[in-house]
Amino acid sequence: MRIARYNGGHIGVVVGDQIHDVTAAAGIDLAEWPPVGIVRTIARFAELRPGIEAAAKAAPAVPVASVHLDTPIPWPHKLLALPGNFRAHRAEMSLRPETAGAPRTDETSGFFMKSNGSLSGASDPIRLPDKPGRDLHHECELAIIIGRGGRHIPRARALEHIFGYSCLIDVTIRGKEERVMRKSYDTFCPVGPWITTADEVGNPDEIAMRLWVNGQLRQEAPTTDMIVGIREAIEMISDVTTLQPGDIIASGTMSGVGPIAPGDTVKIEVDRVGSMSLPVVADAVAANR
Ligand code: MN
Repeated sequence: MRIARYNGGHIGVVVGDQIHDVTAAAGIDLAEWPPVGIVRTIARFAELRPGIEAAAKAAPAVPVASVHLDTPIPWPHKLLALPGNFRAHRAEMSLRPETAGAPRTDETSGFFMKSNGSLSGASDPIRLPDKPGRDLHHECELAIIIGRGGRHIPRARALEHIFGYSCLIDVTIRGKEERVMRKSYDTFCPVGPWITTADEVGNPDEIAMRLWVNGQLRQEAPTTDMIVGIREAIEMISDVTTLQPGDIIASGTMSGVGPIAPGDTVKIEVDRVGSMSLPVVADAVAANR
């Protein structure tokens, strides 16, 4: 099942190029603040699923292309990410001054966090701050969405805790400041276009993902190239912190990271999950103050 959030928090099931409104069946109150309804829907999904499936069949559909796709989980408990998780990306980063000397091999680096506030959706532009002389980069990643929470989850049971998958772009300013800050600007974490549930994706090994800038392929790799695999990541993270339904784990990126600038279009695609194409614009700083 492909579950989208759209038009200001509606929940939709995507079938082909159509989206069916299942907001009520998903138990979502559109006026709720903070907007944690989808987290509750994920936590209660086994119980809600029959009603959601029935509503999807009964609800009138509109073309997906006609709606504004919001970020699927706007208010997760945690947005976690894996650093340096592909060998060739480690090698390219070791050539940069700020990360020279970092491990190039399979030595794991744990995880880090991006601000939940950096999340945006498939219909939202990436808004770049004005940082003259700095490298603002795209990172193509797989988003792993936790369904059932837990602590000390063994890798052999890890897949049972995954609700689904999305595309994720880890937008980053290179440099020596604290990583959390460089990766936490508003719209620096597009996720979407929807969540494809784990049962529809099947075996998450060998899922290929790729990213283009202005139609030029910049990044491509399968999940088999991850140094810390999906199962191992869930084991590692849950040894530190209790995973909650709706938590998002970014897989880390492969080689080929590079600059984006206002006027560019970034497209990301994950096999069996979906794709989204985002414009890059200059952040309207003055308008936000
Ligand atoms: Mn990354």
